Amino acid sequence: MVSTDLTLQPFYWRATNLFPEKEIVSRGPDGKTRYTYQKFGDRTRALAGALSALGVESGDRVGTVGWNTHRHYEAYFAIPLMGAQLHTINAVLPDDHVEYIVNDAQDEVLLVDPGEPFKTIERLWDRFDDVREVIVLSDEHPKTDLDCVSTVEELVADADPLEWPDLSEDQPAGMCYTSGTTGKPKGVEYTQKMIYSHAMMVATPSAIGVDESDVIMHVVPMYHVNSWEFPFSAAMAGAKQVYPGPSPDPATLARLIEEEEVTLTAGVPTVWINLLDYLDDHDADISSLDRIVVGGSAAPSAVMRRFEDEYDVVLEHAWGMTETMSIGSVSRPKSHMHGWSREKRFEKRAKQGLLSPGVEMKLVDDNGEELPWDGESVGELYVRGPTVVSEYYNRPEANEEGFEDGWLRTGDIATVDADGYLELVDRAKDIIKSGGEWISSIDLENELMEHDDITEAAVIAVPHDRWRERPVACIKPKSGADLTADDVLAFLEESYPRWWLPDNIIFVDSVPKTATGKFDKKRLRESYEDADLPRAPGGSSEGNENVGDDD
Ligand code: ADP
Repeated sequence: MVSTDLTLQPFYWRATNLFPEKEIVSRGPDGKTRYTYQKFGDRTRALAGALSALGVESGDRVGTVGWNTHRHYEAYFAIPLMGAQLHTINAVLPDDHVEYIVNDAQDEVLLVDPGEPFKTIERLWDRFDDVREVIVLSDEHPKTDLDCVSTVEELVADADPLEWPDLSEDQPAGMCYTSGTTGKPKGVEYTQKMIYSHAMMVATPSAIGVDESDVIMHVVPMYHVNSWEFPFSAAMAGAKQVYPGPSPDPATLARLIEEEEVTLTAGVPTVWINLLDYLDDHDADISSLDRIVVGGSAAPSAVMRRFEDEYDVVLEHAWGMTETMSIGSVSRPKSHMHGWSREKRFEKRAKQGLLSPGVEMKLVDDNGEELPWDGESVGELYVRGPTVVSEYYNRPEANEEGFEDGWLRTGDIATVDADGYLELVDRAKDIIKSGGEWISSIDLENELMEHDDITEAAVIAVPHDRWRERPVACIKPKSGADLTADDVLAFLEESYPRWWLPDNIIFVDSVPKTATGKFDKKRLRESYEDADLPRAPGGSSEGNENVGDDD
């Protein structure tokens, strides 16, 4: 029997041979670039030829520091298809992180967008150990003193297109680092087979469902878990793709949806909250849009409801991690739930949902005992499967903590109900331990964002002498809203016991975000841990009185 390795080769073949006329659209500083999969295929081969001429060989790591553009997308295929490893680097990380990541991965060549990403690389040049070439993803040569810089356009124009070599499914094809919201970034490697499996899994209707008829707009940054790997599913399906360029604002997203008739997109909740705000005050036709995959942090049900009621767009709530190549679960009601009331179905959809095909899970308590799926028992979520990594790169101490008997310890604290729906209670680091009891920051945030006058809400734990930790809420009110701490507490009190109520409500212009658009709770915790905050009038100064024991 001849077996065929699971690699990206057939995805490239399918896109370029069966859908040669399908379009890839990319927004740049001078307007849109629009070309076909056929042209994409030719340029990808030429880029691989150019990299090969620069000495890149099978097994080498090539880093990219780029926005969501067609040029970056060409690297997504050129690098793994030539047998090298695509290492996507977060373009907006602090210098120390970029230095650490590039050196840890031993990147030899970097493909870099002009502007800030190039400036970062130039600034850090003397601190890199292995980088010898920089390719700017542009047709304009930047002014620079570095003498190893070329533009991708000059290289592609002169290159001999590469004939793809045979690949093994087990060879590393991708590499990403966790964004470091919880410590030093950790690298993970994705093999050819893992990328293949994840793309196929996403494309099945049992996960997201991606089809040739879709027009997919990639909003998740391409440096964040490879835009949740959607660019690979898109090519495999032969779908039209839209790349919105650097930092697209809500107006740009709305315009691209309208002009390119986008059907499917994905991103963290804040992107969609901002789009809703924009649509409140501006005319835009987003009627082509069918579904938005929302994840990275909990999707507020208020946002899910508004998209469905006002725009007929379904928000698919998904959970995942860098370690699970993004889409680890998606929340959809099972068919037998279709007759349920809308409210009851929303309750399910607001959960993180059913694990993606191929992935298995268990819930484990502090003593290592497996917990029942009763919707109440709370424990750490463990997962394993073909799209889940089994180790961190170069970090034996993190491996010891992060994996157990072939399972990934996610660090997420969850319940699973009798229908098998996963619900995250919190991240192990974000959960608030007050007087021996747990308070879920996710729950409080979700509830706060249901309030008509609140746009963003992040709840963090601050140290407390008596109760160990107490919740504090940072809130961005809607513009023009007249909201007081009392109003907020009274609102929460309708749904939560008094000891859950935040000790303080801090009004902010904007909740700080991580490089990937999540609320940056690490930064918030650092800002407020030693702050002598005035207690919110009416706040829950009694903490867990009469509830939990002091811890
Ligand atoms: P980082 O760890 O640097 O934030 P990741 O993207 O790997 O980068 O983050 C994964 C984490 O994000 C998960 O472990 C989980 O805590 C959180 N997360 C992802 N999706 C969801 C979701 N739908 N609801 C709540 N939390 C989520």
